[in-house]
Amino acid sequence: MSQVWLIGDPVAHSLSPAMHNAAFAALGLPHRYEAREVKAEQLAATLERMRQEDVLGANVTIPHKEAVLRLVARVSDEARRIGAVNTITRHGGLLHADNTDGHGFRTALAEAGLEPRRVIVLGAGGAARACVVELLRAGADVSVANRTRERADRLARSVEVDRRRARAIAWPSQHDLDEADTVVNATPLGLQNEDPLRGRTLPRAIVDLVPAAVPTPLVKRAKATENVTVVDGLSMLLHQAARSFQLWTGLEPPVAVMRAALPRPV
Ligand code: NAP
Repeated sequence: MSQVWLIGDPVAHSLSPAMHNAAFAALGLPHRYEAREVKAEQLAATLERMRQEDVLGANVTIPHKEAVLRLVARVSDEARRIGAVNTITRHGGLLHADNTDGHGFRTALAEAGLEPRRVIVLGAGGAARACVVELLRAGADVSVANRTRERADRLARSVEVDRRRARAIAWPSQHDLDEADTVVNATPLGLQNEDPLRGRTLPRAIVDLVPAAVPTPLVKRAKATENVTVVDGLSMLLHQAARSFQLWTGLEPPVAVMRAALPRPV
């Protein structure tokens, strides 16, 4: 039996173990996906143990997604471009880092039939960077608004696709929202019942990355609003997980089984 680890802090409420363990069981694989709470000062030692033990790989989550870049033998072009890692695969004693968030985001949008053209991304962390790369690749016009403006400026300066970049803006006004067709929430706002667009009229599409067991207030409001398309964080979670599963096992992921292991239908 090989293991796959989830490395982060906190990890207790993660929905990933249910999805991956259901997928291993469905394919008759004797593997086990385990969440491990790892503090920053334990990260290097944890990766060292991964190199030595019977571990296929890992998912990496907050707060280690950037630190891992400096601790592995190889980093994929995708992870380097995004500047963050969410998946590690072990090849012999060497660890390779990758990022499947962009794949998850792209597939979730495609599944909803969404082709955003004018997009506001809320947040400027690793998830926002993955989304901005994908949106620029798809030719969209992208604005980034973040609580800490300097980080949005940095994202706009450092992420470039085909010589195109996002622009940094202040937290969106109603006028900004009226000009956009889609808002992507790439902050944790919603986990504590917040609505990042409270009091504002929504654009035609809402993509909320927060992978919550119950729908966030933004997702609930968008679903209750006529003519608004909603992409729930669980959908991106599913598709990034499926791609990670493929990287660890080399097998076609049983997506229907993984979807059924989520706490609600998406
Ligand atoms: P991160 O790198 O830590 O970035 C967090 C971002 O959220 C930063 O821009 C931060 O702003 C902002 N933020 C945090 N608390 C805030 C608050 N109270 N008000 C306003 N802004 C706030 O995290 P991440 O990896 O990008 O993840 C962001 C979100 O995406 C999380 O909810 C995560 O669970 C979700 N996510 C979902 C998936 C999926 O598959 N569905 C995949 C990846 C991530 P500052 O710069 O000002 O701190």
